[in-house]
Amino acid sequence: MNKWNECDRCKRSTTTTIGSWFNTQMICEQCQILEHEHPLIEQAKKKEREACLNGDYNYSGIGLPKDLEEISRIAEDIGVPLRKRFEKPLTKEEEKDMVSFLSQYKNNR
Ligand SMILES: [Zn+2]
Repeated sequence: MNKWNECDRCKRSTTTTIGSWFNTQMICEQCQILEHEHPLIEQAKKKEREACLNGDYNYSGIGLPKDLEEISRIAEDIGVPLRKRFEKPLTKEEEKDMVSFLSQYKNNR
């Protein structure tokens, strides 16, 4: 069943939300992809696994990095392709585009 929701992070409407690794937000696919490009993602996943192993099921994550919050919010405005493009898995080329886009973004700060 497709029901429109709002992404907790970028506030766009989306039919699919996924739990974030960084905090308790329910986020759209585009935000999830951006999240996976963030350098802290492995650390976030590791901490979450550790919390689960320790029986801490209310673990709320390492917190949303400020730059990720910002990039998720403005992503569409500065040319990250629209969410539609993410309905299919990214090709290697698209993945490369995304990574270079993100590093460009970071270097321009
Ligand atoms: Zn989003």
